[in-house]
This record gives sequence, C-alpha cells and structure tokens, in this order.
Amino acid sequence: MKIKWCWRCQMEIPMLNEDEYLIAHKLYGKGFQNRKSGKERKLSFKELLDYYKEITGIEETEPNAVMHHRIALYGADCPNCKKSLRTKNARYCAECGFGKEDFISQETEPLMIRRKELFKK
Ligand SMILES: [Zn+2]
Ligand SMILES: [Zn+2]
Repeated sequence: MKIKWCWRCQMEIPMLNEDEYLIAHKLYGKGFQNRKSGKERKLSFKELLDYYKEITGIEETEPNAVMHHRIALYGADCPNCKKSLRTKNARYCAECGFGKEDFISQETEPLMIRRKELFKK
C-alpha cells in the first residue's frame, strides 16, 4: 500500500501494490458471483471493501474505486507537484505541466525536423 495522488478522484488515496491488488481482484470477481446469485450489491462486495479497509483503514463503499487504486496503473510521482503521473507512459505531468516544455523542445522538435527532411527526398 502506498498513498498516491489519484487524478480520477482528485485526491490522495491509498493504492494497492500488485500483491494486494491480486487479492482484491479475486474478491472483486467473487463479488460479481455473489451478485449473480442474487445478493445485494453492498453485501456482494463486502469482502473486497473489508479487505481494502484492512490494508488502508479507509471505509470505501464503491468497489470500482478500489479497483482503480492500483499503483501499477499510475506513473511515477511528478518531481514538481508530487502527484502521480496519469500513466506509466506519461511524458509530462497533466496536473502542473511539469516536463511539458522539455518534452516539446527535446523530443517533438527533432522529430519534426527529421520528418521534414524525409519529405524533402
Ligand atoms: Zn481514484
Ligand atoms: Zn506535476
């Protein structure tokens, strides 16, 4: 478990590591089976929500929210605002714009110049 910034929720929230996520994922699947057999939603996902509470101390009520609080879904923390980048492949921070200029000057421009050169031929 690690506290990270979730851009979907716009708040810092405890997220699950891969071991914890694996268990949560199983309980999530179990919740769906419970739903199929007619249990009400809240009871169906109780095990998952209890598990999340056990790790994080937070009483989450929305099973889908637990499932997107997986560390592996997010990128590293932004060196400027400390919020997590939205994805592993994010090149700059969507929250504060950190890295955006570097990205444009160092990567996009040479690429565009190279493309122009290609078109000349
Ligand atoms: Zn979230
Ligand atoms: Zn940032």
